[in-house]
Amino acid sequence: MSYDLVVIGTGPGGYVCAIRAAQLGLKTAVVEKRKTHGGTCLNVGCIPSKALLHASHMFEDARDHFAKLGIGINPPKLDLKQMQSFKQEGVDGNTKGVEFLLKKNKIDVFQGTARIAAAGQVEVTGEDGSNQLVQTKNIVIATGSDVARLPGIEIDEKTIVSSTGALELQSVPKRLVVIGAGVIGLELGSVWRRLGSEVTVVEYLDRILPGMDGDVAKNFQRILSKQGFQFKLGAKVTKAEKGAKGVTLTFEPAAGGNPEKIEADVVLVAIGRVPYTQGLGLDELGVQKDNRGRILTDAHFSTNVTGIYAIGDVIAGPMLAHKAEDEGVAVAEILAGKAGHVNYDVIPSVVYTFPEVASVGKTEEELKAAGIAYNVGKFPFTANGRAKVNHTTDGFVKVLADATTDKVLGVHIIGAEAGNLIHEAVIAMEFGGSSEDIARSCHAHPTLAEAVKEAALAVEKRAIHM
Ligand SMILES: Cc1cc2nc3c(=O)[nH]c(=O)nc-3n(C[C@H](O)[C@H](O)[C@H](O)COP(=O)(O)OP(=O)(O)OC[C@H]3O[C@@H](n4cnc5c(N)ncnc54)[C@H](O)[C@@H]3O)c2cc1C
Repeated sequence: MSYDLVVIGTGPGGYVCAIRAAQLGLKTAVVEKRKTHGGTCLNVGCIPSKALLHASHMFEDARDHFAKLGIGINPPKLDLKQMQSFKQEGVDGNTKGVEFLLKKNKIDVFQGTARIAAAGQVEVTGEDGSNQLVQTKNIVIATGSDVARLPGIEIDEKTIVSSTGALELQSVPKRLVVIGAGVIGLELGSVWRRLGSEVTVVEYLDRILPGMDGDVAKNFQRILSKQGFQFKLGAKVTKAEKGAKGVTLTFEPAAGGNPEKIEADVVLVAIGRVPYTQGLGLDELGVQKDNRGRILTDAHFSTNVTGIYAIGDVIAGPMLAHKAEDEGVAVAEILAGKAGHVNYDVIPSVVYTFPEVASVGKTEEELKAAGIAYNVGKFPFTANGRAKVNHTTDGFVKVLADATTDKVLGVHIIGAEAGNLIHEAVIAMEFGGSSEDIARSCHAHPTLAEAVKEAALAVEKRAIHM
């Protein structure tokens, strides 16, 4: 068997890369060791977490907010087994969708674990131990990432869980402690808080959502605290002891000091993810990695070994499904002789809590550090008609624009639908737009998107409803 391209891994990076390559006429195959396609994202990441976020949000709405809307119901009863089936149905629908797309695009699928025997040769080992050698002009590594672990704290996926175990809990833990105040920890913490857990988040840094705009993080922490989240910031977890009644977690101030203990029924370790390259044979081939284990690539996604490329979570950049997808498209286009490219300055990121948090471009901290003069336009959802009528007034839109040219450099939103609203800013920024461009675009009334227009107007201090 001989191909133009073999893609290793069918997560959002790999399967999208394979489809684009096939569209462009390359004879393409994929290798996947999981039984289903879609990688982390579809199986144990984006999709199942969003299913549980949606269902738990509905549950909380029915329990706490319906009465205010004039909808009288008996207090809703949680059927967690059914909620988990709802989640699984969503996962199955999506993974089968990828299977269909691979078939439709005439992409050959090899089920098994891939090892790169040499440039141009991929060895596939099936579950039954069978071996196949596949010849190919080019190889794209899209093997993704794995859960990062804390030394000395063993994840058993029952009482000490990773995100994977936290998506599978069969009962609501009374006390959930989340280690790590990043996106995954706050999303899954939200799911279980809505369903009844007391949630405490322990974070090493003195802030939540590291990397996001500081003003946004501070405001968002206030909103989450109002919802019942407890935070222990600047705290370093040193020990987790399992007992008959759960887990005793020991932590101490990150700057040094006396240790404290906290009891939990379940502990979620959500301190990040690490690139996954196990068993690929990269060391033998001399493929270079950086000091964080990420495969080093050039601007064309090529490793230092001719014919071997890498994309997605396994290389540098934000560990996000859409970043992996865009890289998949770009490398397929490059291999087909086109000009594939990813604009890393305009990659949105979203926290799918309620309210949502969404951001694109530079934060205020980044602009200050780079010495770039900027103007800020901020508009609160309390002054947006639609948010007011819906009682979803938590949050704001913040537009950061270059002080000289007015070019939009960053947009940060906390609010209902923030994850959809951010795309207006993404398009404006992709086209090199200014805050005035957004401000002069007609926005339908009454929509939450009017807050984006008002924030753009606020850059020149001419917001109407504030
Ligand atoms: C709980 C959670 C929630 C998330 N939510 C979001 C979200 O809302 N939005 C977002 O953008 N991102 C989210 N992410 C991150 C997102 O899932 C990843 O960024 C994305 O899946 C990376 O895609 P990828 O193609 O690089 O790798 P992956 O999706 O990790 O896929 C890699 C694939 O390669 C396969 N593989 C590995 N080694 C081999 C081998 N040797 N041979 C054959 N196959 C192999 C694996 O089985 C896997 O299927 C979330 C992650 C988690 C854990």
